[in-house]
Amino acid sequence: MYFLIKNAKIQFFFELWVIISKFFIYFFTLSSIFSIYRRRILSFYLPYHLKKIFLQQYSHFLCVNKKQTRLSLRDKSIEIKYTVFPDTTELSLENRRLMEKAQEASFSAYAPYSKFRVGAAVLLDSGVVVVGNNQENVSYPEGLCAERVAVFAAMAQYPQEKIKTIAIYGNPTDYELNHFVTPCGACRQVLMEYEQRNNSNICVLCGGTAGEILTVESIKQLLPFSFKM
Ligand SMILES: [Zn+2]
Repeated sequence: MYFLIKNAKIQFFFELWVIISKFFIYFFTLSSIFSIYRRRILSFYLPYHLKKIFLQQYSHFLCVNKKQTRLSLRDKSIEIKYTVFPDTTELSLENRRLMEKAQEASFSAYAPYSKFRVGAAVLLDSGVVVVGNNQENVSYPEGLCAERVAVFAAMAQYPQEKIKTIAIYGNPTDYELNHFVTPCGACRQVLMEYEQRNNSNICVLCGGTAGEILTVESIKQLLPFSFKM
């Protein structure tokens, strides 16, 4: 194609634009061809051991069949928001007191079988604190976690109130903890019920003898896809 342009500057930019356009056209054409045949091209031209390493590193990139592409588009992820404090000193005064109450409660737990004492303290919106601890039984499933002992006791005595925060403290007798103690799945489901019933977030503080405290602003952070009817 020939264009007669008298102005040299305009001619220069026009030609530059044609070159750039051609570059992009070639680039996208070649890259789309390569994306279709890259597995085949690699299998022909790479030595076996190099190919193995390459496939291990970039297997996700090489998965190009349409079925897998369609599946990957349906994949979702959930972000969990939580905070970890090295100890209780950075907690608010209210939360620090609550964690101390949970710690106190853990000492009177009845855990002769697991030796894993747990204390829980529930803060209601009126400021009342109700504590609980794990109660085990020789017939194992009959025991109950500290969180549920505290929550059920609180809701039995103050049914009109909302749970604001629950602090959990793990205090094993026979060994050292190296992590904070989080509620089990059943207790998460129970807390979720009260959070939804009261339409009010329940802040969860998870601690123990290890010292670190994990906090979440809502039990939803610990139980995505909770059971619903
Ligand atoms: Zn539990």
